[in-house]
Amino acid sequence: MPVSFPFPMPSQNSLPQNHREQAGQCRETYSALRGQFNGDLLRVSDPGYEEARTIWNGMVARRPGLIARCIDVIDVQNAVRIANDMGILTAIRCGGHSLAGFSTCDGGLVIDLSKMRDVSVDPDTRRARVAGGCLLGSIDTATQKAGLVFPSGVVSHTGASGLILGGGTGWLTRRFGLSCDNVAAFTLVTADGAVVRASSEENPDLFWGLRGGGGNFGIVTEFDLKLHPLKSVVLAEGLTAQENIRKLLERWRDFMANAPFDLKWNVNLRIAPHAKSVPVQLRGQPVAGSSLIWTGAPEMAEQQFQSALLLCDRDSVRSQTVSYLDLQTMADSDFPHGRRYYTKSGYLNYLDDATIDRFLDGLSTIPSSETQIELAYLGGAAGEIVADETAFGDRSAPFIINLLANWQDASGDALHISWARSVFEKLRPAMKPGVYVNFMSGDEQDRVPEAYRQRWDRMVALKAHYDPGNFFCLNQNVRPRKN
Ligand SMILES: Cc1cc2nc3c(=O)[nH]c(=O)nc-3n(C[C@H](O)[C@H](O)[C@H](O)COP(=O)(O)OP(=O)(O)OC[C@H]3O[C@@H](n4cnc5c(N)ncnc54)[C@H](O)[C@@H]3O)c2cc1C
Repeated sequence: MPVSFPFPMPSQNSLPQNHREQAGQCRETYSALRGQFNGDLLRVSDPGYEEARTIWNGMVARRPGLIARCIDVIDVQNAVRIANDMGILTAIRCGGHSLAGFSTCDGGLVIDLSKMRDVSVDPDTRRARVAGGCLLGSIDTATQKAGLVFPSGVVSHTGASGLILGGGTGWLTRRFGLSCDNVAAFTLVTADGAVVRASSEENPDLFWGLRGGGGNFGIVTEFDLKLHPLKSVVLAEGLTAQENIRKLLERWRDFMANAPFDLKWNVNLRIAPHAKSVPVQLRGQPVAGSSLIWTGAPEMAEQQFQSALLLCDRDSVRSQTVSYLDLQTMADSDFPHGRRYYTKSGYLNYLDDATIDRFLDGLSTIPSSETQIELAYLGGAAGEIVADETAFGDRSAPFIINLLANWQDASGDALHISWARSVFEKLRPAMKPGVYVNFMSGDEQDRVPEAYRQRWDRMVALKAHYDPGNFFCLNQNVRPRKN
């Protein structure tokens, strides 16, 4: 299979044609912004530029001409107005965790919200107001002070804006729904620089589109989030040896089909690390890792976990009550900044023998010990929401899978990317059309209509209304309809 990197980003096709033109646009943008910008403007030669240009995925090493680090909504408005007038290619950044690398660009402008990280929590109404540059960890820390949670992702250094706008899955998805299901209102700056609010009462169409539509419609400067009471969960983990993985996947499939919403059971297929916590006989071997959480009454946990853990190596099983903050940070070090990552994802319709064979084949050819095949069971509260209520892709498929290749050196690019692509192609027959936009890579623009399926026309019309010039083009892009 051919491997092409740096991967093409079709949404950059309309970019300024040459470096000189881009450099000129950056200079003009800088001059126009300088007098009316309260945050930092970083040019290529400025101290701090090298660090500021870097995003999480080491595969994507781009050099923007200017980075505008906003400190308030007015900065965001000024940056958008001027950039749009100049016609300069513009990327938007919250936490910089776009797997696809959309939060940076070569030669253009980055509007960076990383200085806008205020969170205020109202315990009485169980609501939080969260600024558009927050990381998940900032939200968790603030909401836990009031014993409350916002359902989000599983790694605390991920940006909240990108995650929520694309949908947002995590430990609490089955219990409380997707992150985007728990947004009461958005405040955003649209492509013309206006501040717009979207909720079920104000601009309801935009509210619909922002819940799953990614960064297509504007820059969210504040989220009004719904919170839920929760301080701790019971967590169980275990490893299943290669010879039992088939049985484990069958059990996972059958058990989860009727599992309570309080139970989340994730499986990942990988090579067990040479770590003290791993039984000697499993170190360096292909295994299935199970991670389960139970959010119901703690005394019920063991009974719920029993069936899952029976197929795990007994020496590998651990079960304990953990604080929500510990749960939310326990995977942080598994996904460090600066490594190289590539992903292919989809929804599975079913998990039959042939599909399990393909997973096992994928595991037997896995190219490195940090690479993994992630399987999560959806449903629960997220599956209860009617498909057309939000722009988010499919809620009906039971399983979401993510082939996450993770390696250190550019010399491993071809091997890791081809592995992910080839396992994905083999699994395609069992897949339901559709894909979660936040798990897509930067070379999958052709799959964006698939991500929205029956919601595509509505997305295109909404885009044409709020961003007719496609100013917000560095994302899983919905191009505005040409009238
Ligand atoms: C380590 C890691 C763990 C992850 N875990 C999960 C997980 O558990 N669950 C899950 O659902 N996803 C997860 N993801 C995927 C994640 O949802 C996306 O990568 C998401 O884009 C990250 O958001 P960000 O703000 O850091 O993105 P950035 O890279 O900062 O931005 C990405 C895009 O989001 C849009 N955007 C960002 N900020 C704004 C804003 N304020 N207003 C409008 N648009 C904006 C822009 O289009 C931008 O190009 C994970 C990713 C990583 C790298």
